[in-house]
Amino acid sequence: MQALVLEQKGKLALREIDLPLELGPDDVKIAIHTVGVCGSDVHYYTHGAIGPYVVREPMVLGHEAAGTVVAVGSNVEALQVGDRVCMEPGLPDLSSRASKLGIYNVDPKVRFWATPPVHGVLAPFVVHPAAFTYKLPDNVSFAEGAMVEPFAIGMQAAARARIAPGDIAAVIGCGPIGIVVALAALAGGCSRVFISDFSAEKLAIAAQYPGIIPVNIADRAFADVIATETGGWGADIVFEASGSAKAFSGIFDLVRPGGAIVLVGLPVEAVQFDVPGAISKEVRIETVFRYANIFDRALQLIASGKVDLKPLITDTFRFEDSIKAFERAASARPTDIKLQILMDSGKD
Ligand SMILES: [Zn+2]
Repeated sequence: MQALVLEQKGKLALREIDLPLELGPDDVKIAIHTVGVCGSDVHYYTHGAIGPYVVREPMVLGHEAAGTVVAVGSNVEALQVGDRVCMEPGLPDLSSRASKLGIYNVDPKVRFWATPPVHGVLAPFVVHPAAFTYKLPDNVSFAEGAMVEPFAIGMQAAARARIAPGDIAAVIGCGPIGIVVALAALAGGCSRVFISDFSAEKLAIAAQYPGIIPVNIADRAFADVIATETGGWGADIVFEASGSAKAFSGIFDLVRPGGAIVLVGLPVEAVQFDVPGAISKEVRIETVFRYANIFDRALQLIASGKVDLKPLITDTFRFEDSIKAFERAASARPTDIKLQILMDSGKD
């Protein structure tokens, strides 16, 4: 079938490729409807690698997907043909120690779509375990369904933060992940979420949401704003969502004594940070690697209307224009949050 294939660094092709579509008893076959373009897809396209994951042979991109079930395996009871669904792109070994502990996201054997050597889903169909396929509530669109994957990272960050009602949060970095972290923090009980960036355009998008307060660090130091707004006490929770090594200098000035720092952004290299600064406030440090047991509650939040991800979808491309979508994403317009691709196979 026709798929968007990353042939090698910098080279994309829409072409025929053989993909496994054998339906096991616990699987469903899904006609893909919508796929979001993620920073990681773009990074494989522009750099050919993310850390230890190197593109060595042609790989189909895409891991943020929603579609319609077109076939179900003989053991599958929870899903039927015609169900609208979104999918968790990481498949752990269910007999692993990590899976038994419920932390299947950190199973070393996890196979994740569009992470070499595993193919992604910018293709008409995929076969996927029903256990990692989630039915969309009737009032959740395919476009929103394809936003569940990035939102799940924000939800995981909020869960790791152990938010108490009324907490004040500070989010460093106003990219797609920073914004979904801010939305999840609000949904999780934060009273106010301050978000920092150098880009006025990105901050303007986040500022559409009541409760999210943009701070342009080209004009003012984030720590000064947080100090002023909290009477010098600091934020209860600081989420690092920029992945920039620079964000770690002075990061403990943002957090209150006994508060938490949650590391979401993935720096490309090892980063130095101020251990005495952390110890003197007895700061709790948490890390986030993807998500586990999050998709169903993310869908509940979206369906309830408490979280609206639609304003984050900047533009939608046809599948035949998907190379253009990737070129546009690689150009990193500050006004773009999420670009999505509409598959022909999923057309209603
Ligand atoms: Zn993603």
